Amino acid sequence: MKDIKKIEIIQRPPPPEPARRTNPLARVFDELVRFCQSRSMFMLHYCTGCGAIELPPAMTSRFDMERLGIQPMVTPRQADILLVTGYVSVKTLKRIILTYEQMPSPKYVIGICSCTVNGGMYWQSYATAKVLKDYIPVDVYIAGCMPRPEAVISGLRALMEDIRTGRGDAWKKYYQNYDFYLGNQQRLFGEKWQTPTDVIAEAHHYGMMTDQTLGEHTDLLEQNEVPLDALRTRLKARTE
Ligand code: SF4
Repeated sequence: MKDIKKIEIIQRPPPPEPARRTNPLARVFDELVRFCQSRSMFMLHYCTGCGAIELPPAMTSRFDMERLGIQPMVTPRQADILLVTGYVSVKTLKRIILTYEQMPSPKYVIGICSCTVNGGMYWQSYATAKVLKDYIPVDVYIAGCMPRPEAVISGLRALMEDIRTGRGDAWKKYYQNYDFYLGNQQRLFGEKWQTPTDVIAEAHHYGMMTDQTLGEHTDLLEQNEVPLDALRTRLKARTE
């Protein structure tokens, strides 16, 4: 049997220091805002797999997630954190992307369970998406099959620290590298894949357009874009 002491522990490399404003008053204000953000978060728990079973103990009296300022929220439009709690089937991934795009920025994603990291025990399944961060940016992974509530709380604390220090900015990648994420989504769902959110307009709005935002996949989206059903129904009703 392998000696557990000989297993190498890989430490998370420290992320680069975020840019700070030069004006000391502005810096204090930024730090205060980030501190308040990190201590007051609404969490949308998208219970995709078995890892969801660890959330009730993490939320209730024993581990009491609310003491950290984190509480559940039922709508993506008011949520800050998206928890993906296990394996993600191809059908479910579509709903996760729709949900993620509806959340207001800044928004954070936590992948719970090994299945979100690399497919876990479903690594060979044709019906699951293996690596969550290929489709949406992930801030923190909590590995394990399934991770205990202590690990969930520890992951949430790591995210809080990243937000407090200004390092929790994975959400920017979705705008800055939209063509990459869209390309992976199109490979899985087909070239006609589209969502109701205009991500490119949002990237303009946040000033996050880069040369990776647009590309061959956004061109394909533009070619195949059709009015969505709800919109089509409204248009039809208006012309009748
Ligand atoms: S890692 Fe294990 S517990 Fe978590 S979703 Fe996958 S199979 Fe279930």
